[in-house]
Amino acid sequence: MADEKGATPPRARAAELNRLLNTYAYRYYALDDPAVTDAEFDRLLQELLALEAAHPELVSPDSYTQRVGGYVSEQFEPVRHAARMYSMDDAMDLPELDEWLSRTDEALGATPQHPVAYTCELKIDGLGVALTYRDAQFVRAATRGDGTTGENVTANVLTIADVPHALAPAGLAHVDSGGLGHTIEVRGEVYMPKHSFVRLNEGADAAGREPFANPRNAAAGSLRQKDPKVTSHRDLETFLYAVADESPLDVRTQAEFLQWLTDCGFSVNPHACRCTSAREVHEFCERALAQRDELDYDIDGVVVKVDSLASQEALGFTARAPRWAIAFKFPPEEKRTVLRQIRIQV
Ligand code: NAD
Repeated sequence: MADEKGATPPRARAAELNRLLNTYAYRYYALDDPAVTDAEFDRLLQELLALEAAHPELVSPDSYTQRVGGYVSEQFEPVRHAARMYSMDDAMDLPELDEWLSRTDEALGATPQHPVAYTCELKIDGLGVALTYRDAQFVRAATRGDGTTGENVTANVLTIADVPHALAPAGLAHVDSGGLGHTIEVRGEVYMPKHSFVRLNEGADAAGREPFANPRNAAAGSLRQKDPKVTSHRDLETFLYAVADESPLDVRTQAEFLQWLTDCGFSVNPHACRCTSAREVHEFCERALAQRDELDYDIDGVVVKVDSLASQEALGFTARAPRWAIAFKFPPEEKRTVLRQIRIQV
């Protein structure tokens, strides 16, 4: 495949990267058993993005860069999401984050008198889920899957102690007609606290079973169980941060939306912060990185979101990610990852 100088031609390299990414994503999302570190996966994805930016003719609808990277296992009933669940574009360092902030400020016509407000949230390293409430009662839970279709994990999510079985009246007061008659799909992350992860792996070790690679994979493996009794013993928790369709809600910003989720009785991460300058966003990222080890859950970055829901709507989405949000990725912390060295055919 290499030319006479030993370099792989762009088209062949793009095909090779797509093959690697698809193989690794299958191991990670479908089998909850990663074959490479997240840093290695992200490096390959960044290489493909750069290659496609330099050679736009290589972008095809089935490229890994054009889709949400999950899978739907046949073990679970498929669930079609009320609205697509997206992945997120990454900023791998502060200059990339600044580039996104400038582009977004410009697109929204920011001025020194009217800066764009951003809500910064911790990026929880868990598993994305959608929880559906009908007439204010919990009726269904699904994994993100491929973004359009997820896996029905209702019975498993029912075993998670902090998921409310009904929306609380304080939240319902902000839904048209008090919430009755509405179907509301909220979204967030299921995660495994670090102390539970340590205990689970100690138990696996004592029983001679393979340990999980990290808390994210332990959470995914624990939620995607055929027997909900297994899930019930895994000590999972949630943080909610989004809704599929906010139109019945009396909220105008992401910050108000997080308050609404709290009022409904959901667990909402307490570290969100509204920022109106790049300096404040940087400070939030630095604080988050500094407190990373003190938290009892893994975070792999900061999610910066345009605060106004009207501006979010104006910016819209690409094929795989919202244009109104970016994930600022922390430098890899592989020392905690116990990746098993499994040989795979790629
Ligand atoms: P992502 O991690 O880039 O970000 C999007 C996701 O972040 C959302 O879908 C949501 O579930 C989550 N999230 C957490 N906190 C959030 C918040 N406050 N607000 C909004 N969303 C929040 O997207 P992804 O497609 O889920 O996964 C890519 C990640 O998975 C990368 O870190 C990659 O390294 C890893 N991965 C690793 C392998 C491997 O083999 N090691 C394979 C595939 C993917």
